[in-house]
Amino acid sequence: MRMIDIIINKRNGEKLSREEIEFVIDKYLENEIPDYQMSALLMAIYFKGMDDEETTILTEKMANTGKIIDLSKIDGIKIDKHSSGGVGDKTTLVFAPLISAYGFPIAKMSGRSLGHTGGTIDKLESIPGFRTNLTLEEVINQVKKIGISIVGQTENLVPADKKIYALRDVTGTVDSIPLIASSIMSKKIAGGSDIIVLDVKMGKGAFIESIDKAEKLATLMVNIGRRLGKKISVVISNMDEPLGNTVGNSLEVIEAIETLKGCGPSDLKELVINLGVQAVLLSGKEKDEEKIRRILENLIENGSALKKFRELIIAQGGNEEVIDNYKLFPQAKIQKEIFSREEGYITKMDAYLIAKSVMALGAGRDKKDDVIDPSVGIKTHKKLGDRVEKNEPIVTFFANDSSKLSIAQEIFKSAYEIGRNKIDKKLILKIIK
Ligand code: URA
Repeated sequence: MRMIDIIINKRNGEKLSREEIEFVIDKYLENEIPDYQMSALLMAIYFKGMDDEETTILTEKMANTGKIIDLSKIDGIKIDKHSSGGVGDKTTLVFAPLISAYGFPIAKMSGRSLGHTGGTIDKLESIPGFRTNLTLEEVINQVKKIGISIVGQTENLVPADKKIYALRDVTGTVDSIPLIASSIMSKKIAGGSDIIVLDVKMGKGAFIESIDKAEKLATLMVNIGRRLGKKISVVISNMDEPLGNTVGNSLEVIEAIETLKGCGPSDLKELVINLGVQAVLLSGKEKDEEKIRRILENLIENGSALKKFRELIIAQGGNEEVIDNYKLFPQAKIQKEIFSREEGYITKMDAYLIAKSVMALGAGRDKKDDVIDPSVGIKTHKKLGDRVEKNEPIVTFFANDSSKLSIAQEIFKSAYEIGRNKIDKKLILKIIK
């Protein structure tokens, strides 16, 4: 078999066979296929696509390049959740303790920031002392004891995805539906849980910008999950504006804690509850959606979900006092508000530009080895559709460096607009199961 023939086949729109797909992954990992040929194939896939069968084979092959995690020593139905990447997306920090408080074990592996999108592991590491690199044995023992762990992806989890993602990132091939689907699903298959709920983000701050593409991606991932024996549902949610009011690592953890205390932003809570309802429905333990919703809301109101988050922090070596004293989080030296020059309604709060602005402050990574600043970020005081009066604050910047702050402010200027008419918006766009 020759890589050049496989590239030409895909370039001509032909379907790749199992043997061809397995050959590509094996040889690429063995460094026998050079990056330039792999890039050409990724670009051919970007333009010509892959059908469900090809994508399932690719997913399965990628998952098997590393260790498939065995969670069978943990009793109960294990639930996993994944987002396709967004801005201000602290959903896992609320979802995981909430679902664990419901009684489902969560052994969650999360990622770090990717492109303009944030990563749960970076966020958790803003809690002083919090360890994200537990061994599998530690994860299993912890989940058996308290029902929850959130850790970074081990080196050996889908090495094919690590290598291919790094190449996609620099060859303009990230936003390809079969490539996103196989990247996400290979990690979910390797993660070992029984149930998977996916949050596909669609909008300005996501990798997918149209509902059409989001539905295609969601349906493809549901099909792959089913073919590979998983129970799976997808919530498609809007990512035109950031989720909640904060973007930046410690600010987002604080907002997640506020949500667990019952005081967080309504969009974050709505998304978490919707994902939670899908997870519990898939478990078959309860069939009445309204009842599940009430139980989940009650687990927030009665403090059980927050208690679970506290247990998680303690178990992973973090300082749980952050929950009651936000000053214990890394603090930014400069706080700067921007005020509205006019009155009207917020008609644009562009999640992508806001992410860029927050990255300029130092909250994300341009390169893999960049060190992030956990204390910096922004807090918006207005959401899309909100009324704003002249001289009202729109946003507060949290910065440590005045020149970075100036760049961030400049970017933010084009991220928002104020108009005369209130616009309609919808967070949950579709549920695919
Ligand atoms: N998240 C992933 O894990 N992979 C992608 O390709 C895109 C988003």
